[in-house]
This record gives sequence, C-alpha cells and structure tokens, in this order.
Amino acid sequence: MATYLIVGGVAGGAGVAARLRRRDEQAEIIIFERGEYISFANCGLPYYAGGVIENRSSLFMMTPELFKRVLNVEARVNSEVVSVDRAQKKVTVRNIKDGTTYVQAYDHLILSPGATPIRPPIPGIDLPSIMTLRSVSDIDRIKASIDRSETKRAMVIGGGFIGLEMAENLKHRGLEVSLVEALEQVMNVIDYDFAAQVQQHMRSKGVSLHLKNPIKGFSEKDGAVLVELKSGKVLETDLVILSIGVRPDTAFLKESGIVLSSTGAIVVDDYFTTNDPSIRALGDAICFTCPLTDHSITVPLAGPANKQARLLADALIDGNKKPYKGTIGTSIAKVFDLTVASTGLNEKTLAASKLPYKSAVIHSSSHAGYYPGSLPLSLKILFHPTTGKVWGAQAVGYDGVDKRIDVISAFIGMDGTVYDLAEFEHAYAPPFSSAKDPINMVGFIGMNALEGISNPIGWKEVDHLIEQGAVVLDIRSEAETMTGGRLPGSINIPHTALRERIAEIPRDKPIVTMCALGMRGYLAERILRGNGFTEVYNLTGGLRSYTTAKSELARLNQ
Ligand code: FAD
Repeated sequence: MATYLIVGGVAGGAGVAARLRRRDEQAEIIIFERGEYISFANCGLPYYAGGVIENRSSLFMMTPELFKRVLNVEARVNSEVVSVDRAQKKVTVRNIKDGTTYVQAYDHLILSPGATPIRPPIPGIDLPSIMTLRSVSDIDRIKASIDRSETKRAMVIGGGFIGLEMAENLKHRGLEVSLVEALEQVMNVIDYDFAAQVQQHMRSKGVSLHLKNPIKGFSEKDGAVLVELKSGKVLETDLVILSIGVRPDTAFLKESGIVLSSTGAIVVDDYFTTNDPSIRALGDAICFTCPLTDHSITVPLAGPANKQARLLADALIDGNKKPYKGTIGTSIAKVFDLTVASTGLNEKTLAASKLPYKSAVIHSSSHAGYYPGSLPLSLKILFHPTTGKVWGAQAVGYDGVDKRIDVISAFIGMDGTVYDLAEFEHAYAPPFSSAKDPINMVGFIGMNALEGISNPIGWKEVDHLIEQGAVVLDIRSEAETMTGGRLPGSINIPHTALRERIAEIPRDKPIVTMCALGMRGYLAERILRGNGFTEVYNLTGGLRSYTTAKSELARLNQ
C-alpha cells in the first residue's frame, strides 16, 4: 500500500487526493493544509466580500470530515509542512495551534502549496488596514473591516483580475473606491487598447483610477491610512487591499534540494515530476514550458491547477503516459457590467519573445444587431503574419465574451490558424450570434492580411505612418466626422463617394484608410487597391480603437 502525502488542500491538492482515491482504493492519502479549511472556493472570495455570495458556508466544497467519509482521505488542517527530508522520504509537520512538530514518511510526496500575495518591503506595509487576499481567514478580516461603519473608503492596489474583482465588490458594498496601479494600464494580460475600454467602464462606475502610479509608502493619521504615491500625491482611505501579484509559496522547500526557479517556482517536467522522482508538484507553485514561447512560465489559475491534479494522479498510478501540454493562460473576469477575457499571448509578450505578429480587431455585437438585446463586443486576435498561426486573443463586452475566447483558446491549443477561425462552424440563430460570428470576422481579417488582400494595422502604428508621410483617408460620412472627432491632417471622403472623388487622393504617399470601426475602411482599401494604389493600410478597429487608447494615454500625461 503506497502512502501519498499532499502539501496544500485546496485546488490542486484536494483534486489530486480525490483522483488518487478513485484510482487506488487501498492507498494511504494524507493532506496537510496550513490553513483552517480545505477545498474552499478561492475564486468566490471577492464575491463573498461584496455580499453577492451571501452565505459563508457556500465557499466550502468539502470539509475534512466529508473528505474522510466520502473519499477516505485524511485532511489535517492547521498543519504546516515546514521541511522535506528527501533522503529519508519524510516531511516535518508543524501543528499551527500548539506549535508542536512531528515527522511523517511518504512513498510519494505531492506539492500544491499555491502562491502567496506579494508584500513589498515599503514603509508602513504592516499597518493592520493593509490586507491581502488568499484565504478564507483573509476574506473574513476584509469583510469585518468593510462591515465597520467607520469604513467608508477602500483602495485597491493592483489592477489585475483579483484587484478589479475586489474593486467591483467593494463598490457593491457602497464604499468609495479607488484603484492604484504602477503600470500604465489595468489588466496587464490584455493590450492597452482593450484595457482602455475597461478603465473607462470602471470610471463610469465611480472607481477613481490612479494609473502609472507606484506606491511609495503608507502611514496612519486619525484612524485613516495615508497612501503616498511616487508621484508625490497622498491619498487617504480606510482600507487597503494589496493585490499586486503572487509568488510561489515555496520557502519551506529552500533546504530540500528540490530545484526551484529564480522566482521560487518548483521546476517540473511534463509529468509534474521534480528533480526527485518521488516528488511531484502542481498548481500556482510550479513553472513549466509555455507551449507558445518555449519560455518557463507560472500560471496561477484555478483551471490549470484542477486539470493538472487529474493528470498528476493518473501519472502516479499509470506511470508517465499522458504528458501535460501546458497552459496558455486563458482567463476571464467580470468587471461591473463588462466581461474581459484573454487567451494566449498579448502584444507585450510577443514583442518580448521577439515573435512576429499582426493584429485584427473588430467592434461587433454579441448577436445579430436586428434581434433585440444585442450588446457591443470587441474582439482582437494576434497572429503570425505569414503562417497565420493564432498567438492570442482578447475580448471585452457584455455578453458572449466567454464563448469567443474559449473557442479561440481551443484553436490555439490545436495550433490553429486564422483560416481555422474563418471557417469555424458555430451554432447560429439571431438571439445567439450572427451568421458570420465575430470569430469568423477576425479570421477573415487575418486571412485577408495573409493573402495580401488587405493590410490591417493597429492603432499604435498609425502615428508612425503619419510621421513618415502617410495620409489618413477618413471615409466616414460628414455627419460622423462632426461628432466622432478627426485625426489631424486626415482627408474626409465618405466611402459612398470614393469612386467619384478618387482623383483627390494622392498617389505618391502611403494611405491609411479609416472609418469608425474598421469595416468600411477595409472596403475603401479595396477600392483604392483596385484603382492602382499600392501602399494602402486599413486601421483595424477603426477610430474606436484609436481614440479609446489615445484618450487614456492623454489622461496619463495630464
Ligand atoms: P491553492 O488553491 O492556493 O492551495 C494551496 C494551499 O496550500 C493553501 O491553502 C495553503 O494554505 C497551503 N499551503 C501552502 N504551503 C503549505 C505548507 N507548507 N504546508 C501546508 N499547507 C500549505 N483562478 C481562476 O482561474 N479564476 C478565478 O476567478 C480566480 N479567482 C481567484 C480569486 C482569489 C481571491 C484568489 C486568491 C485566487 C483566484 N484564482 C482564480 C486563482 C486560483 O485560486 C489558484 O490558481 C488555485 O487555487 C491554485 O491552486 P493551488 O492548489 O496551486 O493553490
């Protein structure tokens, strides 16, 4: 009978234990969990703080008693593994309640200790009103603070998924909410033009944003927290949620001889095995090779941790037969009324990995515009300019964002190209989509680019082309130009009049066609190309993408 010891009893650890039991009725399986609870819904914590999840008990999927009864797995809570002796195949466990320690032997050790919130060593960081969020006890503390009648203001530091979810939920509780972010945008996993949409939505919901504004330090005054920014600005709040990222919770492994990366992540192979064949690891604490860049990455997300758990348990029972294919970081968040999701690589990671790419953007709608209830949906793909391989996608909208990103994630997982997106067959009726789904549409743009039919360019490239002497041909109607703003130096010829007025367009300069959303610009591009113009570009995403990003950049520089 094999003895499996598991460190960490939440997403990865509990998942491994359950699958192991289903595969081996005889094994001894023991989980050590430092906290008070096992198998709780970390992802639901922000919504419990906001009162959207009303019952605290809903956060718990399992208790140690239930684990024992249903799965015959022993889950020891308040039990911290403090060291690993690989030579003796033993761990030392500290009882958090009384401080005593004991030693437990294993045949196989499985590490799923997760990641811990980063707390940078800046002045005042240990003030009691500065809280991080990882566990149930963290959310209990945060909720108790929100519930105090003196707490009127809250500040979230960090504009990642958890930070934004917390901002929404704090607002939901009626607090005055501000968000401070060191980078120039929230949600660093998406590109600036899409993050800009999220920022505008957050402001419309009353969250004040302080972007590109790192924290210098904290202090206290008359019961309030003073937050000093590097810009010199000092903000006052009653509660701070520090959410600036996580790092693998692996300090207890430092002396173990288990190989860790420079960031402290446990290095594993395709079967989650560490440098010690008796020790495997999974979840937020591991690093592995990104299937798209070949770089080592950590992906702190629940979906991968849960799926890794199943594969890891099977590898322990069956041997190394089913290698892990890695994850491309597909993720999603609700930000007030918006849904924001992404998969694969974004422009920053592509540039940093020196991978060539082009982008295609559409501002479309969740389903056929003529059917009631259709809502705006923006979708962007990044793809290889010659092979068409899809690198990544992002979407922002109110409905149907998840399905678009999930489908593209599946295509990326199968090395899909823009041709696959163009041909993707979807279930269509007007309440659900359009006959040509937004996924098909971005695929068409990509295909046209690959085949030299069109040359889409992103909002960032336009200014550079103008500097180099390009002329922007604005083909919106005159009425649209009155209200929607204009690009400096652009010439306006409505696209319906383009053929008659084509002589007005200079033939010795590059031309950038531009409309409100990108579609009519493409039609104009085709007319110009059909009339002998050779260097023509179309602004993908149109003026909407350009002005959304530009107006946010202008705010930053105010
Ligand atoms: P965890 O689930 O964190 O479990 C690790 C456990 O190990 C912890 O309970 C810890 O106490 C314990 N532990 C650590 N060291 C020791 C030790 N030495 N001895 C004993 N026990 C130890 N992901 C998504 O995909 N979508 C979401 O919407 C989402 N929302 C989130 C919201 C919040 C507030 C948080 C905190 C996370 C969210 N995540 C989300 C991330 C997701 O929860 C993690 O990716 C996932 O839980 C990772 O699983 P894990 O097993 O690696 O770590």
